[in-house]
Amino acid sequence: MEARINSTIIEVLKGDITQSQLECIVNAANTSLLGGGGVDGAIHRAGGKEILDECIRIRNKQGNCPVGEAVITTGGKLKAKFVIHTAGPVWNNGENNEPEKLRNCYINTLSLAMLYEIRSISFPNISTGIYRYPKDQAAEIALKSVLDFVKTNSGIKRVQFVCFDEDNERIYQEKLKAYL
Ligand code: ADP
Repeated sequence: MEARINSTIIEVLKGDITQSQLECIVNAANTSLLGGGGVDGAIHRAGGKEILDECIRIRNKQGNCPVGEAVITTGGKLKAKFVIHTAGPVWNNGENNEPEKLRNCYINTLSLAMLYEIRSISFPNISTGIYRYPKDQAAEIALKSVLDFVKTNSGIKRVQFVCFDEDNERIYQEKLKAYL
């Protein structure tokens, strides 16, 4: 499903983010930036060595990527020109400022995308896999953060939420409808 907020289309779909046709995809990375399981592994496998080489260069310069922050690399062999890597919070019963950290992932990623004049971007459901963030709460934060951002920033024309499982797809669709 799709919705329009000012001049931005917000889209929820089910699929594999490595197949996205948009200009930029987002990686739910870890602070090491050196790859891992889940969507991170899939992006590095599909995008090839160029992405990891750039991650290593960034890491050599600035060290780990703190939770909630974001860095940008090439898309390598992906259709996407860029990958923005953001380190999501590990769910710890909500006792570790996880909501604020997860919101920062979305806001810092979108701010970096604006800096690179990116017009279209695909997000995975950050932190809801290996990091065990409750899907309902994560979706609420993801949608609210992105909708707030595009209400006041008009550069990004399309934002996709690429859900990998049916639960997330249903949750995102329900919540997006409720926001309209
Ligand atoms: P995290 O460590 O942030 O929880 P995961 O990669 O384990 O990262 O999971 C984040 C989300 O990405 C989960 O909802 C998972 O189902 C989803 N995911 C895994 N592989 C893909 C893929 N190829 N495309 C899109 N989403 C994916």
